[in-house]
Amino acid sequence: MSRKYNIITYGCQMNEHDSENIAGLLESMGYEHCDDPYKADVTVINTCSVRENADKRFFGTLGQFKKIRKNDPNFVLAVCGCMPQQPRVVEEINKRFSWVDIVFGTQNISEFPDLLEERLRTGRRMRSIIDNNPDINEDDMKPVRMHRHKALVNITYGCNNFCTYCIVPYTRGREKSRPLSVICNEIKSLVPDGVIEVMLLGQNVDSYRDMAGNSFADLIRAVNDIDGIERIRFMTSHPKDISDDMIECFNTCPKLCHNIHLPVQSGSDRILKRMNRHYDRSQYLAIVDKLRSVCPDITISTDIIVGFPGENDEDFEETLDIAKKVRYDSAFTFIYSPREGTPAAKFEDQIPDSVCHERFDRLVDVMNSISYEKNQEYKGKIYEVIPEGISEKDAHTISGRTDGFKLVNFTSDKSPEKLMGRKVKVMITESKTFSLEGVEVSD
Ligand code: SF4
Repeated sequence: MSRKYNIITYGCQMNEHDSENIAGLLESMGYEHCDDPYKADVTVINTCSVRENADKRFFGTLGQFKKIRKNDPNFVLAVCGCMPQQPRVVEEINKRFSWVDIVFGTQNISEFPDLLEERLRTGRRMRSIIDNNPDINEDDMKPVRMHRHKALVNITYGCNNFCTYCIVPYTRGREKSRPLSVICNEIKSLVPDGVIEVMLLGQNVDSYRDMAGNSFADLIRAVNDIDGIERIRFMTSHPKDISDDMIECFNTCPKLCHNIHLPVQSGSDRILKRMNRHYDRSQYLAIVDKLRSVCPDITISTDIIVGFPGENDEDFEETLDIAKKVRYDSAFTFIYSPREGTPAAKFEDQIPDSVCHERFDRLVDVMNSISYEKNQEYKGKIYEVIPEGISEKDAHTISGRTDGFKLVNFTSDKSPEKLMGRKVKVMITESKTFSLEGVEVSD
C-alpha cells in the first residue's frame, strides 16, 4: 500500500509555491497525496509568521497532532516555512512538542527528502534551518501544481528591504534573483503541461536583477515571447523600485495582465518613513498616475496597515484620503500587530486596540464601498475569463478571473471540463463587492 502525505499551508503565494515543491519531493519519493492531514503517513505544516496570532494558531495546530502520534508511532510530522526561522519558535517546539519529527527552514526545502529518510531510518528528531543561504538550491524541485492551467514561478527569493514591521527579511534571507534563462526555461517546460498563465513571484519583483544584468522589465518581455503562455501576472511590487521601463510593459507586452498589486501601507509620509518604505504619498500617487496613463483599464489592489505605532488621527485621515484618491479595486487591510524581532515591535507608541479597531472598521467601509462602486462599471459588459474551477458554493457555477484579476462566478450550458484552460467570454450580469456574476456567451 502506498504511503500518503498531506501539506497544511498557511500564508502567501510564496508559501503555496513552496508547498507545491514539497509535494513534488514527496511524490518523487513515492508518496501519494491524501486530503486528511490526520490520516496521512507524513504531514507537513508550512507556516506563516506574518498574520496576526500566527504563534497561537501554529502552536494550536501542533497540539492537535499529539494524539495522532500517540496512536501511530510511525506517523511523521514536519514543520517548515517562516515560523521555524525564528530561534525562539524552534526552542519552543523542542521543549513542548516532542511529537514534531522534522523542522526545516525556508532555504532548506531541498533537504527535506534526506531529513525524512533519516528520520524514518533512525527515529531521530531532525532539524535543519539556515539563516541566509547566498545560493539558490533548486535541485530536484518538480512542483506538484495546485492549478492545472496556471503556475506560480519564483523569480526572486528573500528580501533586502527591512520594512520595520516585517519579519520576512529575517525568515527568508537576503534577496536572490534567479537567472532569466532559468525562469524562461521553467515556464517553457510548463506549456506542454497545459499551463497558459504564470504568476511571477517575489517579495519585491521590481528589484529583480540577475547576474547578466536583466531587469524585471527584461524578464516580462522575455516571458511575453514564450509561445503558449497567454497571461502573465506578478506579485509583489514595491513602489520604491517600480521603473518606467516596467510600467511601459503594460503597453508593449500584450500578455501582461492589466492588474497590479501595489502595497501603499499608509497614506501618511511620517508613518511611511517610520515603516522604512522609501517613498512618500506624492511619489506613490505619481506612480498610480503613470500606470493609468500607460494602461487606462489597469486594476489596482493594495495592502494597508492600520494602527502602526505612532499613527495619529491625522495620519489615519491621510490613509483614508489616499485610498479615496487612488480608488483601489480591492485591498488587504490589516491591523498592525508586532512581530518579535522587528524594529517596530520595540517602538514605544503602540496604538491601543480599540483605536485600531475603530480605524480599521472605517477603512474597510471606505474600501468596500469603492470596490462595490468600481465593480458596477462591469455590469452589462463582456470580459474574457479563464475558468479556474467549480464554485465552492454551487456545483453549477464556474469560477474564473478576468485579465484584471476580478473574480467571476458564471454559468454556462457547456460542461466545466470543456471550458477549463481556455479563455471564455462572459457577460457580467451582477456586480458585488468582492466578485462579479455572469453567463458565458462564447460561441
Ligand atoms: S518589501 Fe518590506 S514588507 Fe515586503 S517582504 Fe520585504 S520587508 Fe517585508
